Parts: sequence; structure tokens; C-alpha cells
Amino acid sequence: MNRTVQICIAVAVVSLLAAVVWTPWIAVLVLAPMALAWAISARRQHQNLTELLRDPAAIGMSFEQAITTLRSKLKAGEAVVRDRDAEIAQRRQITNAVPDGLLLLDPENRIVWCNQAALVLHSLDAFRDIGKPITQLVRQPDFLAYLNDSTRTPPVLVVGPRTLSFKLQPAVDGARLLLTQDVTERERLDRMRRDFVANVSHEMRTPLTVVGGYVETLTDLPVDAQQSRRFLSMIGAQTDNMKRLVEDLLTLARLENDLVPAEDVAVDLASIASDALADAKGLSNGAHPFHSSLVPAILRGSPSELRSAVSNLLSNAVRYTPKGGNITIAVRVEDEQSVVVEVTDSGVGIASEHIPRLTERFYRVDRSRSRETGGTGLGLAIVKHVAQRHRAQLEIESTVGQGSTFRLRFLRAVL
Ligand code: ADP
Repeated sequence: MNRTVQICIAVAVVSLLAAVVWTPWIAVLVLAPMALAWAISARRQHQNLTELLRDPAAIGMSFEQAITTLRSKLKAGEAVVRDRDAEIAQRRQITNAVPDGLLLLDPENRIVWCNQAALVLHSLDAFRDIGKPITQLVRQPDFLAYLNDSTRTPPVLVVGPRTLSFKLQPAVDGARLLLTQDVTERERLDRMRRDFVANVSHEMRTPLTVVGGYVETLTDLPVDAQQSRRFLSMIGAQTDNMKRLVEDLLTLARLENDLVPAEDVAVDLASIASDALADAKGLSNGAHPFHSSLVPAILRGSPSELRSAVSNLLSNAVRYTPKGGNITIAVRVEDEQSVVVEVTDSGVGIASEHIPRLTERFYRVDRSRSRETGGTGLGLAIVKHVAQRHRAQLEIESTVGQGSTFRLRFLRAVL
């Protein structure tokens, strides 16, 4: 109850008493202005209410009707606010699901808004950095130049562990949207592709230069029959090297295309190993004693791929083991879980720092030995891909000067 009403009630009580005890006209004199004041106050409240409603229909309403209408309008208003909140939350979810960074910059390059990815990519703190100029947070000169002149080529920058690319888009009222993409993986693949092309060109150029040299000599200089036979045999050897390189490249390209073996048939690993062993003996040409222990072990997969992997391991054993060194191949079923094919040699061995990189394309520990023995630098890359496609692990153990063991461990689940 407000103060005016309290005073009115008090005065009314006093006046009633006065009317009874004294004269009715004095009571009327006191009560009339009071009634008038009350009526004016009620009217003002009603006006305020109808004004609050801002509805022409409310002008003729009673006080109670106006209150009821106001209540329902408030409820409707709350529902609208709730719907808007839900809409805003949904939009926030959508922008946060975008993997690229979105940053809204005002004309002074202050951050007005950003999505979750932008916070992560720029290592921003939503509470600390919103409102700050982006120029304080990303300071690379190329980025600042692009911010000043968005007609320039958008920069690609290394920011912390990531490589980021940027793009500015005009938004409303002079604001701009800065799109940030994490291109680390794309850049890595690009670099790999460039390195690969450079490596292949280099690998091809070396034998081609040798072949070119001999052909020139044979063409320009007087050589006897014996010399010419020697030169032609050199040309033949280099041509074989190029042929092997092209074959290995094609094999690798085929293997990289898919994650599963080209075929899915039952293969006896022991018979694969025995065929590869015959080839390795031919390559060794009697220079090494061979030992074998082959237990039948059936896998599902591609016989040609498995043969290629085992042959590569055996040919490496031959090429990196000096004359007289032992070479052993074993196929065994190891515990309940795995089938193993293992090639061990007593050759030159490999220092431990090289082991994690051996399966990279064109990675060689001893470049000249690899070349002299006709290596392409792709053998172990092929082995790795065959292993991956057959869900096998390639395990390498080696000691410099004592020899190496290369082991392919196939899971029994693929049997
Ligand atoms: P490459 O054609 O050069 O032999 P690989 O991919 O087959 O290429 O092998 C990569 C490198 O790993 C080789 O250059 C060699 O240095 C080393 N390597 C592979 N197998 C053996 C082994 N059995 N003993 C010693 N070194 C090896």
C-alpha cells in the first residue's frame, strides 16, 4: 500500500468520525478533495499502464483488464527473448563448429567477435583479447601489411606450431571478417611432393648422365671392341637402375593409392619366403651362406605385395652384408597373436639414429653403397606400405658392424 493511500484511509476514518460526531458538510468538505486526489492518482496509474502497453485497444480497458493484458504481453515478450537466446546459441554452435578461424574486426582492427577456432589458432583468450586490436596480437610484418592493404596476396605464416593462411572479407559498416585457415598439413604434403619430385629428378639424372657420357664417348672417340663392350655393359647397368627405379615408383604409387591389399586371398607366407629366398640366392651369386626355417603360416592378402616386401628385405640383406656373411630367413607362428617373417643378416648394421627414418622414400644411410648395389632408396618404403595394407608391424633391430634383423609381424586376426 503506498503512502497516498495510507494517508487517504487515515483522513477518511477521521472524516467519518467527524461526520457522525459533527456536521455532515464538514465531512463532505474533507472527503471531496480526497476522493478527487484518489481518482486523479488512479487515472494516472491507468494512463501509465496503457502507455506501457502501447496498444490503442488498451485505452478503454479497466485497470484489471490492463493488468491482465500487460501480464500476457510480458509472457509473450519472455518467449521472444527465449527464442532469440536459443537462436543465438544455435548460431554460436554453428560458428564454433567451423574449423576455420572467423574474426570480426572493426574499422580500427579491434576484435569485435570471434569463433572458437580463431581463439585456438591465434592463442586468444576470449575475456582478455576481445576488444583489443589484432595488430597487438599478430605482429608479423606480412600480416600487418595485408591488414593495411587487403588487395595484396594473402600471407601464409608460421605462427607457433602451425602454418596459417589469412583472408580478409568486407563485412558491414566498415567492419571486416578475417578468415584464418590451418594449412600445416597441406603445406607439409606440398613440401613432401616438392621434395619427392626433386629426389626423383636427381635419381634419374645420375644414371642418365652416365649413359650420356658413354654414348658420347662411343660416338666421338675411336674405341676398340673390348672397350665398346665394357661401355655398353655400363650403359646396360645404368639402364637397369633406371628401370628398377621406375618399377619401384610405380609399385609405390599403386600401394599408396589404397589402404587395403589389391587382393584378398589365402597366402602361405612360407612359400612366399621360399620363392624370395631363391631370388636372393641368385642375387648373392654364392657370396653368402643362407639359412632358413619356414613354418607354413596362412595369411589373407595379396601374394604379389607380400612377395615384393619379403624380396626387398632379402635383397637388402644381400646388398648390405659383405661376402661370407650369414643371411637367415624365418617364418613362424609366434604365440596365439601373430605370424612373423624375419630376415637377419650379419652385415654392416645401422646406427640407431637412422632406424626411425629408414622407411622414408629415398632415405639412405650409405648412399654410395646403395647406388653401387643398384638400390633405389624405395625398398623399405615399399615394405612399410605393404605392411600397413596387411595390418602388419615392421620391426627393425640393428647394431653397427654386427648386422640387422627386419621383422614383419602380422596379426592373427587377419588369418
Ligand atoms: P636402398 O635401395 O638404398 O637399399 P631401402 O629403402 O631398401 O633403399 O633401404 C634404405 C636404407 O636402409 C638403405 O640405403 C641402407 O642404408 C639401409 N638398409 C636397409 N637394409 C639394410 C640392411 N639389411 N643392413 C644395413 N643397412 C640397411
